[in-house]
Amino acid sequence: MKKCSVPGCDRKHLAKGLCALHYDRKRDGRSFEIKSRYELTAIDRIMEKVIILQNGCWIYTGKLTSKGYPHVRDDKGKMKFAYRIVFEHHKGPVPDGFELDHLCKRRACCNPEHFETLSHRENIIRGNSGHDWKNRFRDPISGRFI
Ligand SMILES: [Zn+2]
Ligand SMILES: [Zn+2]
Repeated sequence: MKKCSVPGCDRKHLAKGLCALHYDRKRDGRSFEIKSRYELTAIDRIMEKVIILQNGCWIYTGKLTSKGYPHVRDDKGKMKFAYRIVFEHHKGPVPDGFELDHLCKRRACCNPEHFETLSHRENIIRGNSGHDWKNRFRDPISGRFI
């Protein structure tokens, strides 16, 4: 397994010789040195626990909700989905009334490239609530869409 090149760090390599945590800190122009746990921001705490799968998914290996979603405390102490924190960190805030849809269908994935922003309504239609509208058909007996 290829490892991070920062001395003393043995996290798995992500890109440019760095692990996910250090890659992210470099991108933000922050120092590599982590003096204390208190210095870690929400994004650091998430990236520390991310493993990268071959298909590019960033799987959060920390605590998940009973439904398998990664739920963590943000820098203001509010509980948020980890992938939302990562997405907003890289791509900016998700507009009001919009939700993030996992294109890779892995709930623990935090790779911002694996998401699309959808309105709440689109998410329900597309989502796992059962019917895909395009595939519905009229029941010849009752005349209702099923
Ligand atoms: Zn590292
Ligand atoms: Zn993914």
